[in-house]
Amino acid sequence: MPIYEFSCRRCGRFDASRPMSSVPDALDCPTCAQDSPRVISAVGLSRAGSPAARTIDAAARTASEPPVVTGAPGRPRSAPVTTDPRHRRLPRP
Ligand SMILES: [Zn+2]
Repeated sequence: MPIYEFSCRRCGRFDASRPMSSVPDALDCPTCAQDSPRVISAVGLSRAGSPAARTIDAAARTASEPPVVTGAPGRPRSAPVTTDPRHRRLPRP
């Protein structure tokens, strides 16, 4: 059920969940029971803080602030591929 916002003249705004098929134009305030009209407000569709927004921000930031590179990418040193002693005599690149 969607949440609708109502505004009481005395107590301010309050939310109420109602089915879409029966949305009242006004509700009684839960505090003072005064007739409170429904308020049309903006829908919260903010993307701030979402993974998609962070990715977009990071991609835009690389245009003006590219990541700092301190050297050429190197090959990781690992154990020799072979243990055959004849392979040591082969020419090196
Ligand atoms: Zn009230």
